[in-house]
Amino acid sequence: MSPQEILEHASKVVPTVGIATVYRTVRALVEQGEIVAVELPGEPPRYERAGKDHHHHFMCESCGRAFDIDACPGDLAHMTPKGYTLRRHEITLYGLCDACVDDS
Ligand SMILES: [Zn+2]
Ligand SMILES: [Zn+2]
Repeated sequence: MSPQEILEHASKVVPTVGIATVYRTVRALVEQGEIVAVELPGEPPRYERAGKDHHHHFMCESCGRAFDIDACPGDLAHMTPKGYTLRRHEITLYGLCDACVDDS
């Protein structure tokens, strides 16, 4: 979730919560190792629970929300140039989430 999404959820429970509180809480949780930043290309960082297994993300181009994908294409070493060592990969799929498909 992005800090803005966290704020929207939090303000349902605590109407007085502000974005500064959200940022402060997010920073504390990152320092405690509870959550990790998810960097999607060209996007402000989002955050998710730490310690999840390797996974990828689906980003909705309409509402901008990111969703977890449990699948992985696996070892991408065959795409790596000769002589290079592949260490990790990030994959982001783009499209419309189910809510946005229903809206269109
Ligand atoms: Zn959407
Ligand atoms: Zn993967």
